[in-house]
Amino acid sequence: MVNDSLTLKIQRIEKSRINQVDWDNLPFGRVFSDHMLVMDYENGEWNEPEIVPFAPLSLHPATSAIHYGQSVFEGMKANKDEDGNVLIFRPDLNAKRFIESCERMCMPTIPEDVYTELIKRTVDLDRDWIPNKEGYSLYIRPYMFAIDDFIGIKPSDKYKFVIFTCPVGSYYSEPVNVKIEEHYTRAASGGVGRAKTAGNYAASLYPAKLAKEEGFHQLIWTDAAEHKYIEESGTMNVVFEIDGKLVTPAEDVDTILKGVTKRSVVEIAKHWGVEVEERKVSVEEVVEALREGRVTDAFGAGTAATIATIAKIGFRGELFELPSVESRVLSNKVKAYLTDLKAGRVEDEMGWLVKF
Ligand SMILES: *Cc1c(COP(=O)(O)O)cnc(C)c1O
Repeated sequence: MVNDSLTLKIQRIEKSRINQVDWDNLPFGRVFSDHMLVMDYENGEWNEPEIVPFAPLSLHPATSAIHYGQSVFEGMKANKDEDGNVLIFRPDLNAKRFIESCERMCMPTIPEDVYTELIKRTVDLDRDWIPNKEGYSLYIRPYMFAIDDFIGIKPSDKYKFVIFTCPVGSYYSEPVNVKIEEHYTRAASGGVGRAKTAGNYAASLYPAKLAKEEGFHQLIWTDAAEHKYIEESGTMNVVFEIDGKLVTPAEDVDTILKGVTKRSVVEIAKHWGVEVEERKVSVEEVVEALREGRVTDAFGAGTAATIATIAKIGFRGELFELPSVESRVLSNKVKAYLTDLKAGRVEDEMGWLVKF
């Protein structure tokens, strides 16, 4: 249940828009639930949060975040089980990452328990918007940005925190083709790659556009210094199965976003007795293994897609085709497990769900 000690104003929508939704054709991220939560920070503290009807925000033209990018976001999903309980997947990890992102961007933080509670209240009010259909969910988007109306460069004094939700269908339905990028960079050591901050995604658009022109869906980013080590794929973490072992870049660097999905894949695979190596993964090693047919699986892991199967990997003009999707035993098993778990169809033995 929700925690009553947190005070929150609620202004309900007069008439729900829920009947206007075409539930069979839900595009990702374009349909928004009835309400949103808004909480402002000023004079060194957070004001009382308020849930209001979903509507445009009014912003001063000098709004600091628009000019200088003090802006961070999160993403997670809620589903319903058969009894109508709401299930949210690992919001604690999400809350911790939000705090880390805020700290890196010189922004105020929100305590983990408050953050989680605000998410729960927002989702609870619009729980009818959680789709019941297989593979569908309610995507939750919390974000914070600087709202000082001042065009000098300094940490803003005022911020706005918002949570809105979107009923969504599945994200990537088709397996993806990715290209190992050796020129452009997502994140350099000492930079902000570890933070889920707006500018990282703006910066990735141009290289991704070039890759799309070559027929790829996404890039596999490599390290900025030498382009020798694999980091992530697009906005997902990346996992390979090489010689029967799961191999994935370790997150003890400040250039890789610490994904909740990837962490969960690693933990459940280990729990099932699969050998997992989290370490530096070189491009050379992966390309050699691709050449020798020792890469039996490769996939991106992230909240939006959960598991995005990689069909082909491009490197220096060569295109390596991976085994058929049906043959991907482990990733298919992980994907089914996570889907079933999030829908409350299997026991939550890892204690990953928050239920209300
Ligand atoms: C959000 C994100 C991920 C995936 O994180 P999840 O917590 O699994 O959704 C991976 N890489 C980048 C760059 C991201 O922004």
